[in-house]
Amino acid sequence: MQYRRLGTSGLQLSVLSYGAWVTFGDQLGRGEARELIAQCIDAGVNFFDNAETYANGEAERIMGDVLVDLRVPRDAFCVSSKVYFGAVNDPKPTQRGLSRKHIRDACDQALMRLRVDYLDLYFCHRADPEVPIGEVVLTMDLLIRQGKVLYWGTSEWPVEQIREAIAFAHAHGLVAPQMEQPQYNLLHRTHFEHELMPLAREHGLGTTIWSPLASGLLSGKYADGVPTGSRLSTPGYEWLRKRLLSRRDELSAGLARFAALAREVGTTQSALALAWCLANPQVSTVMLGATQRTQLDENFAALEIANRLDTALLARIESCFPVL
Ligand code: NDP
Repeated sequence: MQYRRLGTSGLQLSVLSYGAWVTFGDQLGRGEARELIAQCIDAGVNFFDNAETYANGEAERIMGDVLVDLRVPRDAFCVSSKVYFGAVNDPKPTQRGLSRKHIRDACDQALMRLRVDYLDLYFCHRADPEVPIGEVVLTMDLLIRQGKVLYWGTSEWPVEQIREAIAFAHAHGLVAPQMEQPQYNLLHRTHFEHELMPLAREHGLGTTIWSPLASGLLSGKYADGVPTGSRLSTPGYEWLRKRLLSRRDELSAGLARFAALAREVGTTQSALALAWCLANPQVSTVMLGATQRTQLDENFAALEIANRLDTALLARIESCFPVL
């Protein structure tokens, strides 16, 4: 494993990390989650990503139980949560969003579910137009001063609002956001490369990127249909299935070229797509999702492939897809 600093902070995260969206609670129970987390720990992964909304809190409960059960020392791993969407179906106004009340309640609940005394990373899962930026920054600053959170950040926030949060924090002597969690993969590049990277460079933000395989589309598994048990066959994710299968159809020629290139390089599509993410030094950590041990084996091979990517090969990879 390799480790990178989270922006200009002192925190070193494994370049490959592991998240729980869709998988924990909706696809996998404690037994399978335990095997996968144990495999990650053995490979040197030190960051596990979660959110209050994943399986309505069940994903965090599973992850917390497994980390305790595996007896991973608290100083050997980092865990995150995210606040915004709420942890129940049809949340009441005080059970969602970024009000001081919900952030405080959500943080305490995440600590209980994850069975930890503090969150290493805490994200505002989306921007909340109904809450003044100062209220959000003050609340996050307080959680840090209370020792409940070490680093706070944003996810999928427009860059102007991240700028506002940083400016408010600096003007009032408060702790500014340290990281952003955006989608970044070969099929989704423009926001990260043109908007976020300049901001991250200017302010020393780290980036924890999500859906590096576009929910599995870049692995090639959907080339001939939707395999039983895969994410796109999971009940409740019909919206994702519709969106990704239409991308697959639009990009079919490029996906076929990418598959051929992976064969030529002597690796899998997944490892090549993840290696491409790793090649960007502004990515602090690439967050994997996986439902099987064999997927993790394949995905960890990206570390070695990343060392083999030169400018020419990167350009050939990128030429498979339009820049979106
Ligand atoms: P990916 O794009 O890598 O998709 C992961 C899924 O792809 C797996 O669960 C598996 O699904 C399939 N897969 C993974 N590896 C392989 C392989 N080698 N071969 C075949 N199929 C494979 O990542 P995620 O979308 O899961 O995102 C990673 C993490 O990012 C999440 O777990 C979550 O923590 C975070 N996230 C954050 C968001 C935010 O708004 N901040 C939004 C989304 C995710 P299956 O086996 O079921 O087909």
